[in-house]
Amino acid sequence: MHISKIFKSHSIAYSFELFPPKSQEAAEQLFATISDLSPLELAYVSVTYGAGGSTRDLTHDLVVRIQRETDLTVVSHLTCVGSTKDEIQSILDTYAESGIENILALRGDPPKGKAFEPAPGGFGYAAELAAFIRKHYPQMGIGVAGYPEGHPETPNRLLEMDYLKAKVDAGADYVCTQLFFDNHAFYDFCERCELAGIRVPIVAGIAPVTSVKLMERMAEVSAGTLFPARFIKALRRAENEDYMKKVGIHWATEQVRDLIDHNVSGIHLYTLNKSNATRQIYDSLGVTTTRYLV
Ligand code: FAD
Repeated sequence: MHISKIFKSHSIAYSFELFPPKSQEAAEQLFATISDLSPLELAYVSVTYGAGGSTRDLTHDLVVRIQRETDLTVVSHLTCVGSTKDEIQSILDTYAESGIENILALRGDPPKGKAFEPAPGGFGYAAELAAFIRKHYPQMGIGVAGYPEGHPETPNRLLEMDYLKAKVDAGADYVCTQLFFDNHAFYDFCERCELAGIRVPIVAGIAPVTSVKLMERMAEVSAGTLFPARFIKALRRAENEDYMKKVGIHWATEQVRDLIDHNVSGIHLYTLNKSNATRQIYDSLGVTTTRYLV
């Protein structure tokens, strides 16, 4: 289903993020997770594209398999890193042929320690990719990334909103945010979007932290995200990994509860291919209902 239709038919569109498994065993485990999560209220799932385009084929295979074997709507992430326009076009052709209707258009991160360089004949910014998709695949739904606490490469926060507006004007149907742990940052971001004239749905990215290792990894991959002192203190008070998991899931649950109360357009849960934390959040909030599709 086209993403615009999804937002029109859900008061809050819940979505889950998955990443492509690297082995057959992990793939089967992932499909068990999908099956475990599918009774939950769920509008769509999205599948990440490995750093530097490293999972191009795996992402494609997973997206197409979900499309073929389930009734879920899939959004495929696509980045500009290391790909020429022709290569991007051929990826998009394959998606279009497989009936994939939605793409999250991203620039992607450069290899560690390097500045981003577009591939020769490639795209320099996500806005260019979004414009390309809108022009050549007008039927596709397009999402773009937003950063409530700022993207590290653009310290000028006013300019950053202009760049986000340019991405939306290039054809985006929605914005999905980087994960955040302080809802005030998200609400302020939504207000700044409104002031910038951004009228598309803004989806809140929520990640349950279930271990110190995971928190450190999140801090690394979602550069710029703030870990509030109250949250770090609560995690540090946890005596072992089990308690830490409870603290992280509780924090995410309270964030989601508050977002629901604020009538957000969408909540995107970074599941990390596991169902346990997501199920617990749903159970605590009473949103464990059958999928609602129009
Ligand atoms: P852009 O919007 O192009 O922005 C990149 C930087 O350039 C920003 O600092 C922006 O402010 C600045 N900028 C934009 N336009 C201009 C301009 N005209 N002039 C000067 N500066 C400009 N990465 C992956 O590799 N795979 C994934 O699957 C993936 N999924 C993600 C999902 C979400 C929801 C989010 C929030 C991020 C995801 N990322 C993923 C990370 C993302 O690729 C990085 O954050 C990347 O550094 C920026 O991508 P972007 O699409 O936001 O880029």
